[in-house]
Amino acid sequence: MAKTEILGLSFEEIESVIVGLGLPRYRANQIYHWLYKRQTHSFFGMGNIPKELRETLNAQLSISLPKMIKARISKDGTRKFLLELPEKKRIEVVAIPQHRHKDRRYTICLSSQVGCPLRCAFCATGQSGFERDLTAGEIVGQLVVAEREIRKREKIAHSEKVLSNVVFMGMGEPLLNLDAVLKAIEIINDERGIGIGQRHITISTAGIIPGIEMLAASKLQVTLAISLHAATDEQRSSLIPVNRRFSLEPLMEAVNDYIRKTGRRVTFEYVLIKGINDSAADAVRLAKMVNSLLANLNLIPYNPTDVCEFQRPDQETINSFYALLKNKGVNVTFREEMGADIEAACGQLKGRLARYKQENDIIRPK
Ligand code: SAH
Repeated sequence: MAKTEILGLSFEEIESVIVGLGLPRYRANQIYHWLYKRQTHSFFGMGNIPKELRETLNAQLSISLPKMIKARISKDGTRKFLLELPEKKRIEVVAIPQHRHKDRRYTICLSSQVGCPLRCAFCATGQSGFERDLTAGEIVGQLVVAEREIRKREKIAHSEKVLSNVVFMGMGEPLLNLDAVLKAIEIINDERGIGIGQRHITISTAGIIPGIEMLAASKLQVTLAISLHAATDEQRSSLIPVNRRFSLEPLMEAVNDYIRKTGRRVTFEYVLIKGINDSAADAVRLAKMVNSLLANLNLIPYNPTDVCEFQRPDQETINSFYALLKNKGVNVTFREEMGADIEAACGQLKGRLARYKQENDIIRPK
């Protein structure tokens, strides 16, 4: 008989699996605690569970984590991990240090799919196509493996929190795999385990309207981030092909509706690309669009990838674009560029080993 996989199950679901095995409910508490508070992912390491019972659990249940293939660290402290799933498919996960926590806390950037079907012109992930959705267990598994690795490398005690925020800004489009993403969020949010608050979780989307509507209906207090990148349909469709299906007007309506239903401020992301969307006229249109809603704007100077000819605007253009928005009263910030030297910045994730091999600073995890 196949074992029951418990990574990706909620606390209550693990409880019912345990009860189904004829065991007392509190064993589920113990297992959940070991898994998510003590980074123990083998039943044999679960000290307060009797030996014979560990054998039974191990015969009936499994805990399958993605395999860590490579771990790299940027000069700014950003860590990137290449993980392998059972059929040898590979994904990347990035951990970005929070300077205000003296670098001991990280924002973790999770992938939701292997590859991506959206093929945005400026993003490396979609260029090699879409392979499959991740399961909730695989999404949580990324976080678990990354957290364990960080704790080990930095010798951080179990009692100290390591992950402060989660952003679904890795590989893939989270709103095209919403069921698994929501399930993963339920687990990540659970105080009895990982315990990251909903307000510290961000879902970034290229603008999948049905997904935004479902998220609004879920009433979750997570942050919604919209990859806007252009303020006209013509411009946006050339950068983000899915804009042909979900164009700006209905997208803005859906976002407005989301704000009304959840009371949450949304974030718009805008990748600044030289000569494409960085003019004063672009800034004026953008300001109008963002100011009509309860929203922040996050500017991301384009990060180079090897999939397109785009370039980052020069600093002067970036500064005047910012100043113009600021003048118009937009709540605008820059996304700090982190991890670019190890291709861990936005849009640079591809999930391949080749680029790791070229570098000298590979860390070989044991
Ligand atoms: N599919 C989701 C999440 C993916 S990536 C989405 O589209 O939002 C997270 C952010 O990185 C998105 O805003 C994406 O547009 C941006 N991004 C992609 N490629 C980039 C690049 N080369 N430089 C800067 N940001 C990029």
